[in-house]
Amino acid sequence: MKKVVKFGGSSLASAQQFEKVGNIIHADADRKYVVPSAPGKRDSKDTKVTDMLYQCYALAEEGKDFSAVLAKIKERYQGIIDGLKLDLVLDDEFETIKKNFEAKAGDNYAASRGEYLNGIIMANYLGYEFVDPADYIFFTEDGNFDAERTDELLSKKLEGVERAVIPGFYGSLPCGKIKTFSRGGSDITGSIVSKAVKADVYENWTDVSGFLAADPRIVSNPQGIEIITYRELRELSYMGATVLHEDAIFPVRKAGIPINIRNTNAPEDKGTWIVENTCQKPKYVITGIAGKKGFCSINIEKDMMNAEVGFGRKVLEVFEHYGISFEHMPSGIDTLTVFVHQSEFEEKEQKVLSGLHKAVNPDSIDLESDLALIAVVGRGMKSQQGTAASIFLALSQANINIKMIDQGSSELNIIIGVKNSDFEAAIKAIYNIFVTE
Ligand code: ASP
Repeated sequence: MKKVVKFGGSSLASAQQFEKVGNIIHADADRKYVVPSAPGKRDSKDTKVTDMLYQCYALAEEGKDFSAVLAKIKERYQGIIDGLKLDLVLDDEFETIKKNFEAKAGDNYAASRGEYLNGIIMANYLGYEFVDPADYIFFTEDGNFDAERTDELLSKKLEGVERAVIPGFYGSLPCGKIKTFSRGGSDITGSIVSKAVKADVYENWTDVSGFLAADPRIVSNPQGIEIITYRELRELSYMGATVLHEDAIFPVRKAGIPINIRNTNAPEDKGTWIVENTCQKPKYVITGIAGKKGFCSINIEKDMMNAEVGFGRKVLEVFEHYGISFEHMPSGIDTLTVFVHQSEFEEKEQKVLSGLHKAVNPDSIDLESDLALIAVVGRGMKSQQGTAASIFLALSQANINIKMIDQGSSELNIIIGVKNSDFEAAIKAIYNIFVTE
C-alpha cells in the first residue's frame, strides 16, 4: 500500500503541530509521500506565513526595506526547528531568498517559499528525501497546469524514491520561473502526487474531521459525512471549497483514488471519504445541503419563445460576451430565467440588458436581486419518492417562498432559489426534515 498524506497550514503551524504530524506518519508505514503546506495560524490572531511572504515581497517590489518582515518569517521557522530540536540551519536559504526578493523574482516565487522551507524542515524531521516540485510539477506558458508533462516526470522521479517530502502549492513555468496554484493549492499538489505514485489513498489532513452535512454556523451540531461521491461533492462545491480546494479532486478522480479528509488534532476520527462510487447507502436521503447568497435573476419574457430556434443560445451569448457565467437557467414556455452572481453582473447590468434587447427582442425583462441558491444533494435521492415533497413541506411550514426549483437529471440534487433573507431559515428547515436522529 502507498498513501500520500497532505498536511494543511494549521497542522504545521508550530513544533507541537509538527510532532502530531510526525506521530501520524509513523503510525502507518504506508504513509510514504508527504505534502506539506506553509505554516498557518497558531491562533486566531496569528498570520499565515504565506500572507507574511506576500507582504514582505510587496515591500521588496516597492524598493522598501523588507528585512524586518523577513526576519519575522525566519523566526517562525526557527521556532519550529528549535522546538523539534533539529540540527538544521536555514541561513543560506534565507540569504538566497533575500537576494531573489531584491532581484524581484515575483510574488509567486515569494509565496512558494513558505511550502519550500516547511518541506526542508519536514524532510529533515522525518529523514525522508526532499523533492522540489520546481523540477517535477509544471505549468504551460499560459499558466495552466501541465498534467501530462508533470505526470510523466514526477512518476518517473518518485518511482525510485521510497519516501519523500514534496512541498505543496507550486511548480514551474517552461522558462523555469516559479508559479503557484491559487490559494489553498497544496491540496492540488497532494492530488497530483497521488496520481503520479498511483497511491491507494490520498489522505488530506486538516483541522476538521471531514465534511459536515450543513454549515455549523447555520445548523447547530450537524451530522458529519462519512462517505461522499465526487459528483455529490461537486454539487456541494459551495460548501466543500473551504475544506478542500475544488481543483484537487480532478487528478485523483481520473485515477480512481479515494480522498480521505482527516483531522490532525483528532486522528482517531475516521473523517470523510470522497470516492468515485459506493454502494454504501447514506444514513439519510440527503448527503448534504449547501448554499450561497448573492445571486440575481434575469427573467426574460417573449410570446412564442418556445418556437424560436436558437433563442437560448442568443441569450447566453450575451452573457458570454460580457464574461458572466450563469449558475442556473430554468425556463417556462414563454419565459427564460438566468441566475448569475450579483457581484459579476451588477457593473455590467445595463450593457447586458441592452445586449439582450438587441439579441432577442424580448417583450419584457425583469430583474430580481438578493437571491440565494441552496443545493440539496444526495445519491440517496435517486428513484426515491417524496424528496421534493419533503423539501416543499419543510419550506412551506417555515413560511418561505420558493423562487426557483431545479432538479438535475441525475436526480442527485435539487436546487432551490429563495430570498437572501430566507437563506438560513430554509437550510435549517430542510436539514431538520431529512436528518432526524
Ligand atoms: N500556503 C498556501 C495558502 O495559504 C497554499 C496552501 O496552504 O494550500 O494558500
